[in-house]
Order: sequence, then structure tokens, then C-alpha cells
Amino acid sequence: MHEYVVQAVILDREPFREFDNRVTFFTERLGKLSGKSVSTRKITSKLAAHLEPGAFVNMRFVEKSGLQIVDSLTSRRLRAAPPDLHALKELLPEGEPEPELWNLLKTDKFSWREALRILGWDPNGAQCATCGKTAVAFHAPRQEMFCAACASKLPPGQVLYW
Ligand SMILES: [Zn+2]
Repeated sequence: MHEYVVQAVILDREPFREFDNRVTFFTERLGKLSGKSVSTRKITSKLAAHLEPGAFVNMRFVEKSGLQIVDSLTSRRLRAAPPDLHALKELLPEGEPEPELWNLLKTDKFSWREALRILGWDPNGAQCATCGKTAVAFHAPRQEMFCAACASKLPPGQVLYW
């Protein structure tokens, strides 16, 4: 059984089975991963507080029918907002390191302008996919850029402004 000890940023946490969670986290060398945390929805769980989106943690996990998080300790909370971290989770590929993005999060300098540039959708000089005006936002599901007027017609939860 492989065991890993990593620093990680908690991106998202979803309920899984009756008492467990499925936690998505981002690491320096292994990129985005997700794993199960057992019993973290029980009120007595000490681990739960250390698996909240935005926590910068020291984590231990094992490979055991998927990944299982066995320990996590928060060293600090990052300034990146949970909705942004959730959106980042949707954009990041599984298991691919993104060292520049890691540094951006770790140094608390997260912005969509920088994050999108790192991930290959450079906002600088980007034009609206609909009307050609200067783009101000990224629509994650379509992976296209939009100006303010066109972006306002899209579902708000899917649009990332820089
Ligand atoms: Zn437009």
C-alpha cells in the first residue's frame, strides 16, 4: 500500500455515502487528485475541519481502492475564495502538475487573469467569442471568453471574471 505525504490545497468537498466525503485537492507534484475521507461527516470527526475548501494542509493519503485521506492538518487558510477553488477543480486535469499555479495559490496571489494564463487561456488581448469586443470573462463549460454584455447573458455560476 503506497502512502503519500504532501502539502495540498483543498479545492472542494462533497458528501459521499452516509458519513464520508469525497475531497478534491491540488498538490505540487501530483496536480489535482481526489480521495475519500472516511467518517468526516460525523460530528465527532477531527479530520473534517482540516479538509475545508481553502485550507492549505499537510496531508497523508494512501492508495486503497482509490485514494483515501488518512490525515490532514491545516497550516493556514488561503485567500482564494471557495467558489473560485470549486471552479478551479472543474478546470484542472486530473494528476497533472501545474507548478506555476501551485505557486500562485501558495503565495496567495490567486487571480483568474493569472490562473487562466497558466492553464492556457490567456486573457490578455482576448476578444469576445460572440461580438469581438474586449473580453472580461471566461465561460468554463464552453472554454470561451466573453465581453461584459455577452457574459451577463450566461448562467452566473459558470462565468469567471478577471
Ligand atoms: Zn460580446
